[in-house]
Amino acid sequence: NSSLHEVDPDVAAAVDAELHRQQSTLEMIASENFAPVAALQAQGSVLTNKYAEGYPGRRYYGGCEHVDVIERLARDRVKELFGAEAANVQPHSGASANAAAMFALLKPGDTIMGLDLAHGGHLTHGMKINFSGKLYNVVAYRVDERSGQVDMAEVEKLAREHRPQMIIAGWSAYPRQLDFAAFRRVADEVGALLMVDMAHFAGLVAAGLHPSPVPYADVVTTTTHKTLGGPRGGVILSKQEYAKKINSAVFPGQQGGPLEHVIAAKAVSFKIAASDEFKERQRRTLDGARILAERLLRQDAVDAGVSVLSGGTDVHLVLVDLRHSELDGQQAEDRLHEIGITVNRNAVPNDPRPPMVTSGLRIGTPALATRGFQAEDFTEVADIIAEALKPGTDEAATKALAERVAALAAKHPLYPGLGA
Ligand code: PLP
Repeated sequence: NSSLHEVDPDVAAAVDAELHRQQSTLEMIASENFAPVAALQAQGSVLTNKYAEGYPGRRYYGGCEHVDVIERLARDRVKELFGAEAANVQPHSGASANAAAMFALLKPGDTIMGLDLAHGGHLTHGMKINFSGKLYNVVAYRVDERSGQVDMAEVEKLAREHRPQMIIAGWSAYPRQLDFAAFRRVADEVGALLMVDMAHFAGLVAAGLHPSPVPYADVVTTTTHKTLGGPRGGVILSKQEYAKKINSAVFPGQQGGPLEHVIAAKAVSFKIAASDEFKERQRRTLDGARILAERLLRQDAVDAGVSVLSGGTDVHLVLVDLRHSELDGQQAEDRLHEIGITVNRNAVPNDPRPPMVTSGLRIGTPALATRGFQAEDFTEVADIIAEALKPGTDEAATKALAERVAALAAKHPLYPGLGA
């Protein structure tokens, strides 16, 4: 019963260092967030010890009476949150939720249509060496070069030509809303199923600040750790008619025992996501992204070769276009890292630079909104980023920017009760 620090000081030291990193820097990776302490407690609980293959009321192990309560709470809450007919809360991650949904509804060799990875899609939407690209015949749609947005006329044209069994709408790096009704019309026209992967924007949907795909899609998958702000994990929502197939595709099709400690943390985060405070946080998330896009489109940033894909954002992230900048994506990511802002480099459509370098950045606001950032703080961080992306910033200027970052971090303490 010794503590982590006693049993394994090496791991404990790295955990402490990571807590300090999260507290002292500004997290702007668009897919990350800070899980509430209540979710951390649920996930760090004794539920980690329990095997519970099967589903509530129909388990293959004894002693499941308490985890049944928890899994039912998670399922009922997520159904209520999104107005879904059926939910499976067992997928270990977003990728495994997608794998299970496809495994349930498709046969190997079927055709899927998803957004090209290089245009903002996810690996599981048909990337060549992902399971989705290996098991299925992939037709990728792309964003329009001029608008930077998905062109539904092109989606329709490709769907008519290739007659996919499934169309996937969803993204990992796209700054606008998709037209789910239009995707439904195209799917119906060619007899395809519609799967929406709302991993990135699920929190916005839960708060009513983004259109919901649930009324339109046959199946909706999500992660629980991005805008939704819970533990790392996945969920599958569906129409009732697909629920049985999806449940058996998750277990025993893809997974063994569910992670009931993670499911407990999911239940906690679904409860929080139904609150007014969560809605207010999602509102600040959107405001922050809009402020960031506006400040990065000011003349001095544009003069430094910075631009914003699609000319702005409707969601929680901004895609910075550095094709005309002296800095490439790697250099820009490194420069922000140096002053204490964490982002990830990201290929822009038709990127002239190689994938490990890229000509873009993906910058998101969910984690800072969770930290309590208000409009004035987002304005300050946006101006710091714009300044840092100017070529030729010297050592003194870098130090001054790092101090401004540290001041913002100190103004909004993270996990104040945790750590040494
Ligand atoms: N779907 C989308 C749209 C994503 O952006 C991601 C992760 O970035 C995933 C699925 C996969 O989630 P996970 O990393 O939990 O497997």
